[in-house]
Amino acid sequence: MDYLPIFCKLRDKECLLVGGGKIAERKARILMEAGAIITVNARYFTPQFDIWGKDGKIKQAYGDFSADLLRGVWLVIAATNNQIINDLVYQKASAGQIFCNVVDSPKSASFIMPSIIDRSPMMIAISSGGRSPVLSRLLREKLEANIPQHLGPLARLAGDLRQQVKDKISSITLRRRFWERLFMHDRLAQSLGNKDYRMVQKHINHLFEKPLENRGEVILVGAGPGDPGLLTLKGLQEIQKADVIVYDRLVSDDIMHLVRRDAELIFVGKRAGYHCVSQNDINQMMLRNACNGKRVVRLKGGDPFIFGRGGEELEILSKECISFSVVPGITAASGCSAYSGIPLTHRDYAQSVRLVTGHARKNKSLDWPSLAAKNQTLVFYMGRNQAAEIQTNLIKHGMSISMPVALVEKGTSVQQKVITGKLTALTELAHHVDTPSLIIIGKVVLLRDKLNWFMTF
Ligand code: SAH
Repeated sequence: MDYLPIFCKLRDKECLLVGGGKIAERKARILMEAGAIITVNARYFTPQFDIWGKDGKIKQAYGDFSADLLRGVWLVIAATNNQIINDLVYQKASAGQIFCNVVDSPKSASFIMPSIIDRSPMMIAISSGGRSPVLSRLLREKLEANIPQHLGPLARLAGDLRQQVKDKISSITLRRRFWERLFMHDRLAQSLGNKDYRMVQKHINHLFEKPLENRGEVILVGAGPGDPGLLTLKGLQEIQKADVIVYDRLVSDDIMHLVRRDAELIFVGKRAGYHCVSQNDINQMMLRNACNGKRVVRLKGGDPFIFGRGGEELEILSKECISFSVVPGITAASGCSAYSGIPLTHRDYAQSVRLVTGHARKNKSLDWPSLAAKNQTLVFYMGRNQAAEIQTNLIKHGMSISMPVALVEKGTSVQQKVITGKLTALTELAHHVDTPSLIIIGKVVLLRDKLNWFMTF
């Protein structure tokens, strides 16, 4: 270990910052957050330093650095743009056994500043030992995305509740379970964020009343249309917390690489018109796992409430009193529209957009006259095999035979394929795309010529 990570208490302790420029400003901010008493030494100061000086947040010591400034100081940061001065500060500080950081020069420093994820009182510090600040920053961004924003207030609340929990729950195992439930309690976190303390108390009471309850829960998560970058932050957090993940064919492999390594993965291979596990079996599987206390994520392509039968699965859970929540996803229509350069609405061409299933239950045929109406965009999900029916019915009900159409296969993924043409050719075009694919019909399709940005090579 080249550096020992420690968290030091700087509140009300004298610290010296040498340098009055932009970089020094950044360091001053960190010291301020830590509550240090800061003296800043420089010949010239940025206006921000003058404001802080006037507000009494820092003391300004004008002029050249001198070792006298180190008297009574716990920690020094040399942040001038002059290497000679920075080295001098480091030498003098070392002689006085004062920890000194030198910006951009970890070799001549006795401590380095890590990248920080601040969810006070939770803190995570990351360092590459000065070798690659960019790598530390990238790691930080990855972790930032995974660590809920509300963790800080929850940690503070946990501190306040500690004694009460000890008094009320004697078994260590049940206490652990209580804490796990508290830290994963999204609605509690939300109430804390909204400073709705009445609601906070209600959630806590509920947790105390039911600490023994061993029921798990189900989180219905939308995985988006393919590109893993389109998964929501919340979706990512959920798939990384899950004990069991029940997923279907539309969830891309890239997304599956993001799930918790030791989660149990259950593939239920669902696709339009083809189910390798029956809906009833899927429901029973979710119920069984949730009843065994597992945290089950039901992961679905796109958005779970758009042609995802998410509602139907939840109705069953609700009947069995299993708690559940829903994380939306980017639906195929939004994803395919963005990645093919076809806006779904446009002031000149379409004032509304309709998401339609090409796979309606046999006895419920679609309202073709209204689908053929002007100034709208139609997006057909599961429509490839019904292309002929769609073409015939729209033309029969008055849509122009030259209405532009687009078919988007595997939208948003690197294998995305888009073909465009006219309504008369829809049936023929459908033979040239594979699943999953989406049909977009409307004048907005013409905009693709100008707006296509994805994979234009
Ligand atoms: N809940 C999903 C839709 C499920 S229905 C959502 O919100 O996107 C399945 C249909 O969605 C497929 O037949 C296809 O029409 C469409 N689809 C899903 N992902 C797609 C993709 N990446 N590209 C094109 N179409 C897609």
